[in-house]
Amino acid sequence: MKHLSIKLRVTLWYTFLMVLVVGSVLIFMMLISSTVIEKDVKSQLSATVNSIGNSLSMDDHDLDLDLGFSLFQNQVYNLLYNENKTLLKGDYPDAFDSKDLTFTPNTIRSIKSGDLTYYVVDRLFTVTGEEGSVKVWVRGVIEADTAPNLMKSLFEIALFTLPFLVLIAAIGGYLISRQAFKPIDHLMKAANDINDGGDLSKRIDLKNNHDEIGKLASTFDLMLSRLENAFDAEKQFTSDASHELRTPVTVILAQSELAQSSAKTLEEHQEALSVIHRQATKISHLITQLLSFTRLDQMPDPSKFDEVDLSELALAVCAEQAEAWNSSISVTSDIQNKIRMKGDSLLLGRLMNNLIDNAYQYGKENGTIKVSLKKQADAIVFTVEDDGIGISPTDLDKIFNRFYQADTSRTASVRGSSGLGLAMVKKIAMIHGGDIRVDSSINQGSKFIVKFPIK
Ligand code: ADP
Repeated sequence: MKHLSIKLRVTLWYTFLMVLVVGSVLIFMMLISSTVIEKDVKSQLSATVNSIGNSLSMDDHDLDLDLGFSLFQNQVYNLLYNENKTLLKGDYPDAFDSKDLTFTPNTIRSIKSGDLTYYVVDRLFTVTGEEGSVKVWVRGVIEADTAPNLMKSLFEIALFTLPFLVLIAAIGGYLISRQAFKPIDHLMKAANDINDGGDLSKRIDLKNNHDEIGKLASTFDLMLSRLENAFDAEKQFTSDASHELRTPVTVILAQSELAQSSAKTLEEHQEALSVIHRQATKISHLITQLLSFTRLDQMPDPSKFDEVDLSELALAVCAEQAEAWNSSISVTSDIQNKIRMKGDSLLLGRLMNNLIDNAYQYGKENGTIKVSLKKQADAIVFTVEDDGIGISPTDLDKIFNRFYQADTSRTASVRGSSGLGLAMVKKIAMIHGGDIRVDSSINQGSKFIVKFPIK
C-alpha cells in the first residue's frame, strides 16, 4: 500500500467506502423486499381463496362444479375438496409434489417442493343453496416468488446500476485527484530540472495559485528567486574579488619581470620593490577585508548578543583612528554617556572604524570630522561627518555596493582601498537591526548616519 501514489490510495479508499455503502444498501433493500414480497404474495393468496370460496354455488343438493370461472386466478392454483378431503376439481402446479398435504384451516404454510417454495392455505366454506348446504375446502397454492413486486424490481435495478455508479465514481474520483495532483507533478519536475541542470531561473509558475498547492508553488517560486539572487550575488562577489586581486598580482608580475630583465641600478631595483610592496599591501588588505566580509555570513544568532557600551566604543575608536592617521584633520566628538545596546562589540567597532577611517581618507587637509552618538526616543543614532571631497549624486546609491569605489584617484592611498568597507558597514548595521544612510554634496563633505531602532 505504501508504494502506491496518494491519488491511487485516496481513490481506492473512497471506492472501498462506496462499495461498503452500496453493499449495505443492497442488503437492506433485499431484506425489505423479501419481507414485502412475502406479505404481498400471502395476501394475494388469501384474497383469491376467499373470492373463489365466496363464488361457489349449489346445484340442487350438491355443489355446482360447472364453475363459470377459472380456478387459476392471480397466480393462485385453487383446488376444491369436499368435506372428506376428496379432490373435486382443480390442479396443483406441475412442480408441486406435496399433493397429499394434510389440511390445516386458515394457516398459510410455506412448503418446499424441489427448488421452489410455495405458500398453501386451506379454508373451509359453507355453500348454501335453496335445497340445503354443503361444506367445501378451498386449497390455494401459490409460488412464493412469482408475484411482480415494486421492491423486487427496485432491488434488481439497484443491483445492476449501483456497481456501475461505483465504477463511474471511482474513475471520476481518480481523474479529479489526478488533476488536483498535477501541480505537484509540475513542482517535482521543476525541482528535478533544477537538480539536473542547476538552472535556478526555472519557476513553477502555476496559473491557479489560490488553493493550498498553488500557495505552496508560489512559496517555492519565491524561495527560488531568493536562492537565485543569493547565488548570483555569490558569483558576482567571487568574480569581483578575483578581478580586484588580479590587478595587483599583474602589476607585481610585470614589475618583477621588469626588474629581472632590465633594472640595472640599485635605485631601479628599489623602485620595482616599492611598487611590488605597495601592491602586496593592497592584496593583503583586500584579503583581510574579504575574510571579514565573508565571516559576517556566519554571524552568531542576534538573540545571543551581549550588552555593548557604544559610548566607550566610539571614544576608543576615535582615539585609535586619530593615532593611526596622525593627520592635520581635527576630530570633534559629541558622544552621550552610557549608551548601551545588545550587539557584537567587534562588529560595531569595525562599523565605527570604517566610517571614521573613510572620513579621514576622503576628508580635506586641516578639515574637521564630527563624530556623534545620541540616544533619541526611538533609536540610537551614530553619525560621522566630514568636510571633505563629498560624493556625487550618481554615486550616492552605489557606494554601499561591494567593490564600488567612486573616487579612484584617492583609492590608491597607502592604506589600500577595496570598496568593501561601506558594504560591510551596511551589513553590520543590518545584523543589528539598524540602517545606514548618507547625505553628501561634492566638495562640501559627507555625513553618514547609522540608526539602531530601540525595541
Ligand atoms: P574604500 O575602501 O574604497 O574606502 P568603501 O566601501 O569604504 O571603500 O567606500 C566606497 C566608496 O565610497 C569610496 O571609494 C569612496 O569613493 C566613497 N566614500 C566613502 N566614504 C566617503 C567619504 N566620507 N567621503 C567621500 N566619499 C566617500
